[in-house]
Amino acid sequence: MTNSAVKTLSQLANHEEFIQRHIGPDAAETAAMLNELGLDSMEALIAQTVPADIRLPEPLATGKARSEVEALAYLKQAASKNKMFKSYIGMGYHPTLTPNVILRNVLENPGWYTAYTPYQPEIAQGRLEALLNFQQVTLDITGMELASASLLDEATAAAEAMALAKRVGKNKSNYYFIADDVHPQTIDVVKTRAEMFGFDIIIGKAADATNHDVFGALIQYPTTNGDVRDDSALIAALQAKKAVVAVATDPMALMLLKSPGQLGADVVLGSAQRFGVPMAFGGPHAAFFATRDSYKRSMPGRIIGVSKDRRGNAGLRMAMQTREQHIRREKANSNICTAQVLLANMASFYAVYHGPIGLKNIAERIHRHADIFAAGLAAKGVNIVNKHWFDTVTFTVSDRAAVIQRGLDAGVNLRTDVADSLSVSFHEASTAADLAQLFAIVLGDNHGLDVEKLDATIVADGSNSIPADLLRTDTILGHPVFNQYHSETEMLRYIKKLENKDLALNHSMISLGSCTMKLNATSEMIPITWPEFASIHPFVPRDQAQGYYQMLGELGDWLVNITGYDNISLQPNSGAQGEYAGMVAIRKYHESRGDAHRNICLIPVSAHGTNPATAAMASFDIVLVDCDKSGNIDMADLKAKAAEVGDRLAAIMVTYPSTHGIFEESIRELCDIVHAHGGQVYMDGANMNAQVGVTSPGFIGSDVSHLNLHKTFCIPHGGGGPGMGPIGVKSHLTPFLPNHSVVKIDGTGEQNGAVSAAPFGSAGILPISWMYIAMMGANGLKQATEFAILNANYMANKLDPIFPVLYRGTNGRVGHECIIDIRQLKDASGITEMDIAKRLMDFGYHSPTMSFPVAGTLMIEPTESESKAELDKFIEAMATIREEIGKVLSGEWTVDNNPLVYAPHSMQDVFDPAWDRAYSQQYAAFPVAYIAENKFWPTVSRIDDVYGDRNLMCACPSPEAYR
Ligand SMILES: *Cc1c(COP(=O)(O)O)cnc(C)c1O
Repeated sequence: MTNSAVKTLSQLANHEEFIQRHIGPDAAETAAMLNELGLDSMEALIAQTVPADIRLPEPLATGKARSEVEALAYLKQAASKNKMFKSYIGMGYHPTLTPNVILRNVLENPGWYTAYTPYQPEIAQGRLEALLNFQQVTLDITGMELASASLLDEATAAAEAMALAKRVGKNKSNYYFIADDVHPQTIDVVKTRAEMFGFDIIIGKAADATNHDVFGALIQYPTTNGDVRDDSALIAALQAKKAVVAVATDPMALMLLKSPGQLGADVVLGSAQRFGVPMAFGGPHAAFFATRDSYKRSMPGRIIGVSKDRRGNAGLRMAMQTREQHIRREKANSNICTAQVLLANMASFYAVYHGPIGLKNIAERIHRHADIFAAGLAAKGVNIVNKHWFDTVTFTVSDRAAVIQRGLDAGVNLRTDVADSLSVSFHEASTAADLAQLFAIVLGDNHGLDVEKLDATIVADGSNSIPADLLRTDTILGHPVFNQYHSETEMLRYIKKLENKDLALNHSMISLGSCTMKLNATSEMIPITWPEFASIHPFVPRDQAQGYYQMLGELGDWLVNITGYDNISLQPNSGAQGEYAGMVAIRKYHESRGDAHRNICLIPVSAHGTNPATAAMASFDIVLVDCDKSGNIDMADLKAKAAEVGDRLAAIMVTYPSTHGIFEESIRELCDIVHAHGGQVYMDGANMNAQVGVTSPGFIGSDVSHLNLHKTFCIPHGGGGPGMGPIGVKSHLTPFLPNHSVVKIDGTGEQNGAVSAAPFGSAGILPISWMYIAMMGANGLKQATEFAILNANYMANKLDPIFPVLYRGTNGRVGHECIIDIRQLKDASGITEMDIAKRLMDFGYHSPTMSFPVAGTLMIEPTESESKAELDKFIEAMATIREEIGKVLSGEWTVDNNPLVYAPHSMQDVFDPAWDRAYSQQYAAFPVAYIAENKFWPTVSRIDDVYGDRNLMCACPSPEAYR
């Protein structure tokens, strides 16, 4: 070997670069794809695709790529700066013991975390069942008739309850009442929402609620200081005055307490966090929401329903999809798109694993800790503030500061945000030793109390810390699913059984346009379950969260650089929440300049449904802007509309590249026109995967954008959530970014309200995006964008001859996604885009995005993470499907007897002895050769949507049905 062939140490190390793991195509595949496009370099492709005037002059400044090992070591070092104190802060966040069988096999399992929202129910029956279980748990504990799965957090669920009250309520008042003993962050978020809707808020003692004429009211049970109060008379009195009453509650408390439904509530909501989901510095957690059956058409968020498949078997699906924002647009019930599916599933598995007896036992144990603690304090003459309690004891001491300090010295956080009192909230992980430690903290070392003796006294004398008439007496969680998987063996198999029903990224490409289903690398996922990140309460003193602040700061700086903005808010916990935070900032900006009359938001007709839904939530009037026949925003119409609304123009919401996947040449001009009329540009960041390192919203001239970190920045979709939707802003909007009533946020206006319950939204999943940016480095991020564009253009070129590509840019290129047009074929053959979507399942593929943004089309976004080999398999599937349509066109198959209309083919279908189709059973399941070695079987046949909506059934089938 000659010396020149011998590599240096660093050259040898480069072989393990993460960039090569993240990007699908290797050098040979890249060359072949460029060749297919008639190009000799990536530069040539980008030059043809991205308009020259928006190309970044400078590379990103996010640093050099780090190896997986280096990035993990660095982040671990940062994480270790978080102090792992015992937190008794409560306020809706509690330490919990995630059963390891759930931790490893759900939260840490790509079979669960890389799946998409279950829009294609035939390949999503597993998570749909877990979500139905979540709804059943919600129904049982709340005592309500209808539950959804799921909302973003307790505070936004409360805000949705207020909006629902306005929609369904009969009281025409503009006032909404919030009891002053609701969690402060909940009040904060509801106030922000009310301000945008133009509702007036009254905050006062719950008992005084009926002194006001209000369209609705929010109370909490147990209250934020722990009190357990019978508000049934209050609820009835409010309802007598036509107010719609929402009750925020705690699922663990409800294992022992009479349900809010029995107290008469109209809406019941809360956080399912303490059902086995780590606190993670504030999220992600699933909020539950339940209401009356009669409000079902007004309910926010997603509802899972039971329907039947073509063979008459039960099949689950998302019910009443016509309620969703993408269809109802500005008339939508909410802008919720991404929910908290993964966390709702964890909580529902927690209930399945523990069952009614186990859960009640956990709740009783927590309650006993509170009883013992209160008994000890009372014995020592300490004043206890709340008369009754489930888990939280609020008390006053004369040496408050000293008690807090003794706690901190011992590594213990008490609740300290209320001026005179202190609170302790017990939780699943509390022990007798913890009680002894707490006594020493509150009473000093010589307290002389004996936990065992106190316990024995309570056992002997009984406890009335929960009023007798508020004790739960009904049987809950009686469904078989909550009563048969209590051994780990059974549980493991149940989780696996459901996982096997779902198609996720660990099986094949999921090329959903606008959703960016790219690699969620294992190294990116590892830090989220480190206890240093997972076990931190969101309201700990700042010095205990230095690791978080460092990670958030570095991530924020990188995102500022990547977006070309000046500041970032990490609070919004979904893309649509980011839109909302951005539109709030725009509204406040105009108000601050005396321009409160600016209330019109321009939205192109092609916009994602969350855009108009969000603009409506922020009380903007919407004026639609047309698209021309090549799919671009019609600039003449834009100019006309902008001139027409004149000084009432507040903003435009625009997606770039467009929702059609095209880099429109006129984007700078668009920004200029809107600015010239005094409007702000909101650029929806869902398509950021086509921009990173090549251009940026700030550079183009936009004022504010949300980033879907669960798209471009590798947070997995979790089967429909979690996500994160931070917003970047230019400096003039910085003073209007969200703040938080419990944790002050640097650099934004003091008076601003919150949009999420936690100060940094779902902070616990931000390490994923941190890891991605760290491991890709500036170079790798740009390459990811280039490969996303290459893969989409290769796909477009290969598919165009068989399914015409609908829109292309000036030079004939698409951006990072492409739309194929099915309409002509559909008219000629009767085969629909839905049939194609279902037939793809037989090939082991999830359908691309269907009928968005253009009805009768499919939008394909392969992302940079897919190899050419995978793209070619998908292309072969599409070519085979095109041949099948050809046979319908030629009359070889009739339109009602062919593999497309019967798709997908379940195993039961294919092995049906009564088979009488025009094609063979073999062909039904194995239309191309490659399927045989990795067959994915849909577990049901095509599900009947109409039947499911006509016979709405959103709970587990009754226990009798199992007999
Ligand atoms: C995904 C998406 C959103 C909404 O993001 P969520 O996190 O689902 O709320 C908004 N706009 C566009 C264009 C999107 O693709």
